[in-house]
Amino acid sequence: MQSLCSKPARSCDAARSRWGQMIVFASVVLLTVAASTQAEDSQPQKRVLIVTGEDYPGHKWQLTAPALKMQLEQDSRLRVETLDDLRALAETDLSPFDAVVIHFKNYDPSIPGQAGLDRLVSYVEQGGGLVAVHFACGAFQEFKQEYELLVGRVWNPELRGHDPYGTFRVDIVTNEHKITQSMKSFETEDELYTCLDGDTPIQVLATSISKVDSKTYPIAFVVAHPKKRVFHCLLGHNVMGLENAGAAELYRKGTAWAAGMALPSPHQQETSP
Ligand SMILES: [Zn+2]
Repeated sequence: MQSLCSKPARSCDAARSRWGQMIVFASVVLLTVAASTQAEDSQPQKRVLIVTGEDYPGHKWQLTAPALKMQLEQDSRLRVETLDDLRALAETDLSPFDAVVIHFKNYDPSIPGQAGLDRLVSYVEQGGGLVAVHFACGAFQEFKQEYELLVGRVWNPELRGHDPYGTFRVDIVTNEHKITQSMKSFETEDELYTCLDGDTPIQVLATSISKVDSKTYPIAFVVAHPKKRVFHCLLGHNVMGLENAGAAELYRKGTAWAAGMALPSPHQQETSP
């Protein structure tokens, strides 16, 4: 067969060898990229349980719980289930879940009662992650001291509740925490809570300045404990508040962190507007 190479035989062999090396190199690069993408995609999913089912009448948990689920599942590593029967919390085995999201405010002290709180406390003490959403700070009012130790800050009905619903800026105050390490401050339309009370050590991640009294209030924080992963965020009065890009990112990353993920998903290099 006539060679297509017009150069002397040794030059042709050298050229073929170089082409061969390049093809092998390119194949290795492609395989490496494919393998790393596969590894990212095949990271084990984390199971998250949203607990809801009762709230202040102005909080439409039937709408906000699915909206929150949808926002969390934008991180494909999070598999989110919902428990909308508060009575069942005391009986539910939480151990299969990597994080539990408290998205309720109960008005009947007996539902989910001390047994429900005990279950959450022991879940966190055994390494489970916890997320508190908006008026979850007002849950378990009858066990306020114990609940404050769990979620860092709780609703004090004697304090002013919140600024009038409207737009305000959420300032990310640290990039030293994994949740906010790549986040920027953002604007949202929501309720700026001014009613939190407690002195449990917390690390504040985001704050806002009230237009009513010009004071700075914590908007998102974690409980400062080396072995606990508890993320508490006050945003999310309604579906629009949860769908705000910055708020959604905060909840997504806060929940991923609470569920024990080391870093944000490589597919989610998101930044707030
Ligand atoms: Zn609200």
